[in-house]
Amino acid sequence: LLLRTKRTLEHDLRIALKENQLSLNYQPFVDTATLEIVGYEALLRWEHPERGNIPPADFIPLAEECGLIVPIGSWVLATACAETVSWDQKPIISVNLSPAQFVQPGIVTTVAEVLRQTGLPPKRLELEITEGTLMADTQNALRILTSLKALGVKLAMDDFGTGYSSLSYLRKFPFDKLKIDRSFIADLEDDSEAETIVQAIIAMSRSLRLDVTAEGVETKRQ
Ligand code: MN
Repeated sequence: LLLRTKRTLEHDLRIALKENQLSLNYQPFVDTATLEIVGYEALLRWEHPERGNIPPADFIPLAEECGLIVPIGSWVLATACAETVSWDQKPIISVNLSPAQFVQPGIVTTVAEVLRQTGLPPKRLELEITEGTLMADTQNALRILTSLKALGVKLAMDDFGTGYSSLSYLRKFPFDKLKIDRSFIADLEDDSEAETIVQAIIAMSRSLRLDVTAEGVETKRQ
């Protein structure tokens, strides 16, 4: 983005947070054995008063860059828990934690406080963390993940298969689930290598007793 456009967008994003222009969409997780919806990932949407719907790919990186991701992330966490606590079937609610949010000194307290205030049982909350988040300081990351886990929430490694896909991270950190990056799923139908990779990730997850979610399934064949 042009610098001027970026500044304007950053300014508008600050206002968006204050003036309720942000909302959440809930993308279902379907159990492949029962075909039941067992959970939802909370996804952020921004309806700009003049420019309409702004794609997350345009504003999330910007929010990361200017630090706004921390208050926005807290808003997402609190809103997702509050909106879904009374849903029937008691689905899992999965919330993305950005790297900047994850290393905030108060992150564990923030999560505990949101659970207490909204009344969402900890086992219904899943936190999604990308591998990149863990790499900067693995000791600190392990400490944070262990404390979050102690609250009773579930931990998912997001976008697995891109980046380093370190197997030692899967062993070292207390994850419950990994999410296969959507790029492999998108290629499944016409790329046998993508299929091989997806099979390998699923087999490995079974051996490590991790749940698996395939991101971005759009078609019946996928
Ligand atoms: Mn995610």
